Amino acid sequence: MTISGQSRQDSVGKQLYSQSFYQTNQAATVAHLDQLAKEKLLEEERLAEEKRQEERLAQQQAKLDLESSFYENVITVSNGDSKLVLVNKNYALDSSYAPSDLVLPNVLALGHEQNKTIYLREEASQHLEQLFSAAEQEAGLIFLARSGYRSYETQVSLYQRYVDQNGQEAADRFSARAGHSEHQTGLAIDVTADSVNGQLTTEFGKTAEGIWLKDNAHRFGYIIRYLEGRESETGYQYEPWHIRYVGVEAATEIYENNWILEQYLNK
Ligand SMILES: [Zn+2]
Repeated sequence: MTISGQSRQDSVGKQLYSQSFYQTNQAATVAHLDQLAKEKLLEEERLAEEKRQEERLAQQQAKLDLESSFYENVITVSNGDSKLVLVNKNYALDSSYAPSDLVLPNVLALGHEQNKTIYLREEASQHLEQLFSAAEQEAGLIFLARSGYRSYETQVSLYQRYVDQNGQEAADRFSARAGHSEHQTGLAIDVTADSVNGQLTTEFGKTAEGIWLKDNAHRFGYIIRYLEGRESETGYQYEPWHIRYVGVEAATEIYENNWILEQYLNK
């Protein structure tokens, strides 16, 4: 038997086919490995993104945990009469606390007339008068006092009004719950100026009056209590208008170190 020409051709064809199949198969294997490498990269990217997402969530959670600890485990302070008394979202004055030495500071008040909402304790009042007159004499700046001592009862109704208007979460960012307001100490006062139409606004911090106050309040024993960028620590949004009397020595140390009161008391 002889192999026919056709068979020979078939045989050669099979070899060729086989060879090209092998090449195709090899190419497919390379393509498959490429695909696996790409999938591995994609998987790695996906895992990295998942990790970033988890970190973001953890950061948000940490912030929420910090904020949710406000008003928890509240301690009622017993040194209400101290000029270094700490009143914040975790330290409260008793509902019955009221200072015994409130006086009406002789300073310009909103509406350019004396105003019974600006009572302060005697030492804080004297220092406020010095601050107002120094601002006028040294820099030609006129401050307006707007809101000083506030009783526990006034704070109850004020906070409730803000909750009704804005909801509790928003109200907690700018208004203290009763017992937690520094205004109940008689050592805190909100000041403003005509340059912001007597308003209590963060814009006040950019005015000549706001800048002077930030740089000079400590000379008269006052600090800007709620600093910009310290909301998670103080529990309050930036309030360039709310000053708190702590005495010249403490105020100067707090100012020079760019501290908040809590840092000074924990040093
Ligand atoms: Zn205030």
